[in-house]
Amino acid sequence: MSSSNFPAATILGYPRIGPQRELKKALESFWKGESSADALESSARELRLHNLARMVEHGLKPDDSSLPSNFSFYDHVLDAAVTCGAVPPRFASFGTDNSDLVRYSVMARGEGHVPPLEMTKWCDSNYHYLVPEIGPETVFSLSSRRWIDEFREAKEAGFLTRPVITGPLTFLAFAKASDEAPEGFEPLSRLDDLVPVYAELLQEFAAAGAEWVQCDEPILVMDTDIERSTLLSYARSVYSALAETSGRPALCVAAPYHSLDDTLPALIETGVEALALDLVRGDISPDIDLTDVTISAGIVDGHNIWRTNLDEAQATIAALADRGANVTVSTSTSLFHVPHTLEGEDHLGEELLSWLSFAHEKITEVVALAGGEDAYPEAFAQSRAAVASRAAHAGTHISSVRNRLERVQAADSVRSDYATRAKAQAARLGLPSLTTTTIGSFPQTPEIRAARASWAKGTLSDADYEQAMKDEIASVVALQEELGLDVLVHGEAERNDMVQYFAELLDGCAVTTNGWVQSYGSRCTRPSIVWGDVSRPDPMTVRWSSYAQSLSDKPVKAMLTGPVTILAWSFVRDDQPVRDTAFQVALALRDEIADLEAAGMTIIQVDEPALRELLPLKHRDQAAYLDWAVTAFRLATSGVHDETQVHTHLCYSEFGEVIDAIDGLDADVTSIEAARSRMEVLPAIKDHGYERGIGPGVWDIHSPRVPSVEELTELLTLASRSVPSTQLWVNPDCGLKTRGYEETTESLRNMIAATRNIREQVQ
Ligand code: GLN
Ligand code: ZN
Repeated sequence: MSSSNFPAATILGYPRIGPQRELKKALESFWKGESSADALESSARELRLHNLARMVEHGLKPDDSSLPSNFSFYDHVLDAAVTCGAVPPRFASFGTDNSDLVRYSVMARGEGHVPPLEMTKWCDSNYHYLVPEIGPETVFSLSSRRWIDEFREAKEAGFLTRPVITGPLTFLAFAKASDEAPEGFEPLSRLDDLVPVYAELLQEFAAAGAEWVQCDEPILVMDTDIERSTLLSYARSVYSALAETSGRPALCVAAPYHSLDDTLPALIETGVEALALDLVRGDISPDIDLTDVTISAGIVDGHNIWRTNLDEAQATIAALADRGANVTVSTSTSLFHVPHTLEGEDHLGEELLSWLSFAHEKITEVVALAGGEDAYPEAFAQSRAAVASRAAHAGTHISSVRNRLERVQAADSVRSDYATRAKAQAARLGLPSLTTTTIGSFPQTPEIRAARASWAKGTLSDADYEQAMKDEIASVVALQEELGLDVLVHGEAERNDMVQYFAELLDGCAVTTNGWVQSYGSRCTRPSIVWGDVSRPDPMTVRWSSYAQSLSDKPVKAMLTGPVTILAWSFVRDDQPVRDTAFQVALALRDEIADLEAAGMTIIQVDEPALRELLPLKHRDQAAYLDWAVTAFRLATSGVHDETQVHTHLCYSEFGEVIDAIDGLDADVTSIEAARSRMEVLPAIKDHGYERGIGPGVWDIHSPRVPSVEELTELLTLASRSVPSTQLWVNPDCGLKTRGYEETTESLRNMIAATRNIREQVQ
């Protein structure tokens, strides 16, 4: 094993997609068949080397293992799967071997009738990873050399990097049982078979010249179904075994996103050389002996974009050193959650810019912290100036916003009892049972995008853009009337994104021009920035919704994005509890809802697809979160009259943990995703005693496939076994913005035909 020290300043990972989304472009052109695998390889190589050069340019050393080697073509968990041979047999006929980009792409995206690996949320972030499929039949073997080749490639270019790999525990804990596995099979039961592959990999890295390897183990900070004591003993055995591997590089186990708690002493005992800990979200219990333990202190936030308070960070580091630890400086998580650089974001204004730190700026922060104030006086001065300027800025404490929040009372989040509301709504709306509707958006056509782009460029006037959107709304309303839907929508043509649209209109929020972060694979999002007290200077959606309503005698649902989702998909200020920011957003939405109601809208939907995403990783934090999340939604929606129907939409199907919260939202109607799981959640909802309207999605909108009338009838029959027809709504799984008109029209036609079938059966 090498005897080099862990680098004094490092980051746990660098953004992978490229400052101009180079990787996205290269991947998509390869997938379209417009460029070869060789061309993709060479763009990726160029990007990797540029990334290393950029890290060095911002202060990381090229030769002390401080540069993380964490490139991925699509997803780091998929990389681990192909590296250790966990490739389900259905992919074996694609490409020649596990490092083949064709096989890799099919695993990520599917091909024809071969479904891809499932995708799910990574920890409590908005990144999605691919879920490995593991069974007793999975044969683990080192079967892709990409990680080692990438290390060599960097070394030949003059960079001694630190390979970053998903650790064996997280890999198996995040996997699911393969289709071949017997009932109750746990992927983690294969740990002993997997560890030798990791040991071999470590030896290969050492042979290639690596001095340090980083194993990411976020599972160790998460409360899951795995018993704590089981996790602890797995952690002990895996890392003791890896530590005993001969001829290996030094090992750093990284535990991003929260505290290790009781797994920390266990890891210390295993003999791994360094531990990278998240000290932004997590902490280290004072009774753990840290004498001589090498801690990479994750003190610069890898998951948010605020400039670090260097004085506070330095005090944390000093306190750890006082406990006898050998402390180095790092980020709390990989930087793939933040954009590359603030360069080019001048439109944000000098003051806001001075508060922010994207990946490049974060590198300069870890370097300054490691070097100290004497070496980096300017960085410390800028940090103090930013702290002072944020605190003093009028927009971070607007008295009208704060006073209003203070006046909020419990009664403001309570509507009358459901029976009273339901009666008033039935009398006003007169809807048939099994009411048909959609989730909000209709296809965002190339014409809509082109109009928005021209408008942003200034080549389309405000009036012409307004007219283009109105024309689109009129055509969406006409289509829905023709199809015979019961509750219509305006189609959301005017929204570039369901969060950014609102962030652009709310005070206290800003949007970037190039602040892209990877959401999954080649997909990126541009999170908004919630920097100050939030308020609504003007109505945001009323003119579109009421225009749509003016075109039809049927009710049109107004559409808003809920407070939790607005925050989940933005970078949120860290100078006050997120709860307070959520309530500010809720009050702004409450005003919008009042205006919608006044404009004659009878149904208002407030989407909360991210409700579960923000669920804290630790059980101990979950109740408080769910409490404020539910209260924020109710604060936004409880100002309406009894006869106004409030809807919400949540798009995922794992409801177990949050079913009480969903009930707690007290929405009159809730639509959920249910088609892929074939209504799996409904019995649980029934057992829960859920009494209000529920719309389990009958059509999986993630693919262009048109469901047949028979299929839809079957799903609705299934649904009507758990939910009385008076409570049951009929809708797709989610919005239709990514779909084309042809499949949308046909699928909706079938959905309505299936509904008519069932209506005849139940009446
Ligand atoms: N109303 C939104 C839409 O239809 C909801 C999107 C979502 O749930 N992500 O697009
Ligand atoms: Zn959805």
